[in-house]
Formats: sequence, structure tokens, C-alpha cells
Amino acid sequence: MGAYLAKAGVNCVVFERELFPRPHVGESLVPSSTRVFRDLGFLEQMEEAKFPHKFGAVWTAEDRKGAYDHDWDGLAPDCHADIRFEERMQEGVEKTYTYHVDRGKFDLLLLQHANKLGAAVYEGVRVSHVDFSPDHPVVHFHMGAKEMGVSARMVVDASGRQTFLGNQLKLKIKDTVFDQYAIHSWFDNYDRKIFAKRDSHEDYIFIHFLPISNSWIWQIPITDTVTSIGVVTQKKNFAKAKEEREKFFWDCVRSRPAIADALAAADRVRPFKDEGDYSYAMKQLAGDRFVLIGDAGRFVDPIFSTGVSIALNSARFAHRDVLAALEKNDFSRQSFSTFENTLRLGTKNWYDFISVYYRLNVLFTYFINEPKYRLDVLKLLQGDVYDDAAPPVLAKMQSMVSDVENNPKHPWHSLLGDLTANSFRPQL
Ligand SMILES: Cc1cc2nc3c(=O)[nH]c(=O)nc-3n(C[C@H](O)[C@H](O)[C@H](O)COP(=O)(O)OP(=O)(O)OC[C@H]3O[C@@H](n4cnc5c(N)ncnc54)[C@H](O)[C@@H]3O)c2cc1C
Repeated sequence: MGAYLAKAGVNCVVFERELFPRPHVGESLVPSSTRVFRDLGFLEQMEEAKFPHKFGAVWTAEDRKGAYDHDWDGLAPDCHADIRFEERMQEGVEKTYTYHVDRGKFDLLLLQHANKLGAAVYEGVRVSHVDFSPDHPVVHFHMGAKEMGVSARMVVDASGRQTFLGNQLKLKIKDTVFDQYAIHSWFDNYDRKIFAKRDSHEDYIFIHFLPISNSWIWQIPITDTVTSIGVVTQKKNFAKAKEEREKFFWDCVRSRPAIADALAAADRVRPFKDEGDYSYAMKQLAGDRFVLIGDAGRFVDPIFSTGVSIALNSARFAHRDVLAALEKNDFSRQSFSTFENTLRLGTKNWYDFISVYYRLNVLFTYFINEPKYRLDVLKLLQGDVYDDAAPPVLAKMQSMVSDVENNPKHPWHSLLGDLTANSFRPQL
């Protein structure tokens, strides 16, 4: 957002409480991010930084007799599915790949880029609250031991899962269905080819389904030899004690013996880090003199690697409304309604897609492998979710889930997950 506004000649200030670079979860991008990099003149730097190119994604599962072993057309018995982004052209993207990133490096480069374009950037400065009472909001922040304030025409909250303004203004609604936790680390010399069916798969993201429900492992290339590995599971499986959480990581890994063997031959190069309580929505994404972008506005689940793309694209959509608001000198909530509606539409599509996935993940594999639906699913996976209020492929998936729910004899009935898609809809 700082880069977009500065590029348009707006006088803006970024306060970042950390000193960059700092580690961060969220390392695998989707192709819709490219539109933002292109807008901001940042693509060259993405190439120079030599982030691994991500050409596609692979999903794997253990071949469980009696579970996945049935004869639905297009569904491989081992539940393996893969997609390649170049299968579907994307307007404004024109690249056959996106990137996996070391977030320490990526976030630093992007912050420096905003600064080069003209945004004033202050690192190590934590915003404590915003006073909206008079005409102009006053942003209060800590600089060392001192508390100071600066007045601004409007405020953009991009504070991530800290949800700074969402907390202050009591806008946050916890998602009661998605209650996932994750534990992750980086490993050197992990063999990324163990499930690769082709050489080119080596640098794909791999999602490995686990035998316990709603749980999976990510495998994300960070450099030629370093790989990020994370386990995502439901909160109920997640122990309070750190040692037990690490044990849980290794137990999950052992349920996929090939991954366990490859990790045993690798070296862990970072401490384990866990992430929790991360699924929520906000009652509003904008108000008089403020907007919430990225995770500050909403986060659901990392399954489709969407968070960074949503953050980048929310800045892309919001900055247009902000520029128009500056032009009209009207910073009322109404001025940000195009942004709010566009983002709500996109995140609703993500929410429905994620819900279907967790309810019946064999269905997801089926849709990927079925030529009739493949490109429509790929469109979602590429991050093109903002232009269609009701993608037909999602409606089809939802109706198939209902059929399976209503028919106990259906071969997939026993595979239904326990996250019920329709039991939670944020009332927004
Ligand atoms: C387990 C897990 C796995 C994930 N995997 C992926 C993935 O593979 N791909 C993907 O795209 N996304 C993934 N995500 C999501 C991704 O991490 C986020 O969606 C993304 O980082 C959001 O970016 P952001 O800019 O909104 O927030 P952030 O990147 O979190 O940035 C917010 C910044 O605000 C700063 N800040 C916070 N409070 C204050 C304050 N009061 N004052 C000043 N500064 C402040 C923070 O220090 C931080 O640097 C994952 C998330 C989880 C939980």
C-alpha cells in the first residue's frame, strides 16, 4: 500500500514495529500476486532476488485401501493430483510461474521498494492506538520510550494477524469452524523429489494429506537446498507444551513414512515456530477514514497459499478508492465501498473453496483430475477470485458435497471431514 500510494505521489508514512528482515510464515505465493509486482515495478527485483520459481502444486496422500481406492473417473488411486499454472492464461500475469519466498528477504525488499518510491518508512515503531475523534485521525506510536502522535487524513491498517484496528474498534469475529494450528521449520537437504512424478515437480509446492482428519503437511522450497515444512492441524490436536507440539510434528510426519525418512536425512536449520487462532473475519473492512487490508481484514486458512496474494491485491483494490477519496476529499466509509465489496466477494469465494476442501478433500482431488472442471479450479488456485460472485465450479462442488452428505451409501460418505461447511457463515 505504501508503494502504491507513494507511486501515485501521495505523502504517506509506514510504521513497522519490527526491524526487517524478520522471519514470517506464508512463503508460497499464487500467480495473482504478479499483477501487483508488475503495477509497482517490482518484478525485476523478484527475479534478481532469485526466489525459487513456483510453476505449480502437487497434492499427495497415502494409498489407503478402502478409503481412496475406488473407481471414480479421473481419480488416481493414490489421490495424487497436480496442476501447472501455465495450463490457464491469466490476463495481466503473463508468466507461467509465481514464487516461493523467504519472507524475511521478500518483506524487506518490498518495504525498501515502498521507501524508494517515496513512502517514509519507520521501522521499530509500534503504533499503539488511533484517535479518530477529531476531523483528522491521530496515530499514536512508540519511538523508544517516547509516545508520540502524528495526524493523517486517513489510516490503512496492514498490521497482519495483530489486527490492530480490528481489536481497537472491536470489529473482530472469530471463525468457529476453522480452528487450525500449525507448527513449522526449515530443513536443509530434504529430498524434495520423493513424491515428484516429474523432475519439474521438485520446485512445486507439495501438500501432503495426513491420515488424521483436517491435517496436512506443506513442503515449500526456500532455496536450492532449504525447504520449509509445516504441519497444519485442528486446535484439539495441538498440545499446550512446546515439547509436545514438536512431538506432534514428528508423529504427523511419521504417518507419511517417506517424508519421515527424507526429514531424518535432512538438518533442521531454524527453531520450530507455531501459529494458532488464526481464523477470523471483521464486521467492516473500511470505515470513516480507515481501511483494513491483508490479514488485518481477514484470515481463514493457509491451505491454498492465498494470504500474501490477498494482502497484495487488497492493497491494489484499496489504493484506488484511497486515491479517489483524496481527490474528492471525502474519507467516509462509502468512499471505500468498491474495495470492501470486491474484497468480500473474493474472500467469500476463498472461504467457500476452503470449506468444501476440508469437508471432503477427496472431492477436491476429483475436480482437479476431471478435465471438465480442471481449468475452473485452476482459476481459483491462481488467485482469480474477485471477478465472479458465484463461480459455477464452486456451486457444483457444494452440490456434490450435499449429495454425499445426504447419501450414507455413497462411497465418499465415510470420508466426510468434521468441519461442516455450512455451519458457519460470518454474518457480514
Ligand atoms: C500456518 C500459516 C501458513 C501460511 N502459509 C501461507 C502461504 O504459503 N502462502 C501465503 O500466501 N500465505 C500464507 N499464510 C498467510 C500469510 O502469512 C499472511 O496472509 C500474510 O503474511 C499477510 O500479510 P500482511 O501484510 O497482511 O501481514 P503481515 O505479513 O503479518 O505484516 C504485518 C506487519 O505489521 C506489523 N505490525 C503489527 N502490528 C503493528 C503495530 N501495532 N505497529 C506497527 N507495526 C505493526 C508486523 O510486525 C508485520 O510486519 C500462512 C499463514 C499461516 C498462519
